[in-house]
Amino acid sequence: MTLDIQRAGTIDQQSLFHPFTAITDLMADGPTIMATGKGVRITDIHGQEYLDGMAGLWCVNLGYGREEISAAMDAQSRRLSFFHAFNGMSIDVAVECAEELLKRAPVPMSRVFFGASGSDGNETQAKLIWYYNQLRGKPEKKKLICRWNSYHGSAVLTASMTGLPGMHSPFLLPMGPIVHTSAPYYYRKAPEGMSEREFSRHLAKELEELIEREGADTIGAFFAEAVMGAGGLIPPPEGYFEEIVPILRRHDILLVMDEVVSGYGRLGTYWGAQMYNVEPDLITSAKGVTSGYFPMSACFISPKVWDVIESNAAAAGLFGHGFTYSAHPVGAAAALASLRLIDEENILANVQQQSDYLFAQMRAAIGDHRAVGDIRGKGLMVGIELVKDRATKETLPMADRTGRQVLKAAAARGLITRALGDTLVFAPPLVINRAEVDELVDKFAAAVNDVLPA
Ligand SMILES: *Cc1c(COP(=O)(O)O)cnc(C)c1O
Repeated sequence: MTLDIQRAGTIDQQSLFHPFTAITDLMADGPTIMATGKGVRITDIHGQEYLDGMAGLWCVNLGYGREEISAAMDAQSRRLSFFHAFNGMSIDVAVECAEELLKRAPVPMSRVFFGASGSDGNETQAKLIWYYNQLRGKPEKKKLICRWNSYHGSAVLTASMTGLPGMHSPFLLPMGPIVHTSAPYYYRKAPEGMSEREFSRHLAKELEELIEREGADTIGAFFAEAVMGAGGLIPPPEGYFEEIVPILRRHDILLVMDEVVSGYGRLGTYWGAQMYNVEPDLITSAKGVTSGYFPMSACFISPKVWDVIESNAAAAGLFGHGFTYSAHPVGAAAALASLRLIDEENILANVQQQSDYLFAQMRAAIGDHRAVGDIRGKGLMVGIELVKDRATKETLPMADRTGRQVLKAAAARGLITRALGDTLVFAPPLVINRAEVDELVDKFAAAVNDVLPA
């Protein structure tokens, strides 16, 4: 069996149901079909090369074609390709992986629970919150507070938690005990003249009012990405977590950090929790845990939650939750190899360096462009929001789909970006070097000027 390269686009259009794709766009433009990757670069089936400014989907942190990871997966797959962790079973590499992950947690953590995706990781967290509160005699503490513009996954509950209306209405969601609060979107949502710090206080006040309105005894947890990713690349304003966390503590509400993107170095600290100095009760990680080489999630459970679970274990009996691929040995091998490389290659230092350089170069290249409203982010998460009018922040006409036009112009120049509406985002592999940052910025600035001449 070999794919007919000339017909591959048509075959794709006629056979593959694409995630998060407008079918009309796919039918009009055809797919871009990738074939190989090395470092920060990928090549499509026709031989066109791209600098991947998105590390796949914010996940190929250590770059493509890493022998160390592939070799570890290959060896594990030959040694023991699958076994599971149900009913007290285990696998040597999964044990080692859990131990290594706990060593790297930002705060002392008691256990790691494995799954196969960020979505299942957050679903696990939600069920753990309900389980924990039931065991400690507070079954009413069920509601999950999530934020507009958040992204927590695509399964029924996690799509409901996600704060993107486009993921709700077509599917009759949200479903479940979920309440949304405002996004910490300073550029668009802060009232005129308000400082970042004041905006953080304003959001904290709104949160506290929401908690009082709903009743703290009905609320189990607050979910937050460190920096919002898919919902618009939104870093928290100054003092945000500092203002929010004490309110959660006061009302006995657990803090879940969704570190599916921010974990494993993307922000220049190992965890977003460290960047923003918070002590989460639960952490969801995925994506970068295997650098995208294998589908895997790892949920971290703090002593506060674990102690309740363990001390009630005799009465509770079987913990009725898990997935066939929880603790998959090939995933564990990929994760162990990735964790080793993050340490050995001093990835955090590179992220800090390249982040400073990337923001500086991006601002120098297009910071004054008439259509660039905001350049924001943290570490190697960068968002550029395009607008019609910088002074008024007026948005571009939706029908123009300017973000998508810039994305296409960048692709034509050999650069992969992602358009979240008219916010273009970058989250390149964490191994990116200075010359590659230059190339990314040059190509992006040119693409912006192709679509929106200065
Ligand atoms: C990608 C993502 C998820 C969902 O992960 P999947 O592996 O796609 O299920 C959850 N949270 C955040 C912050 C993400 O970026």
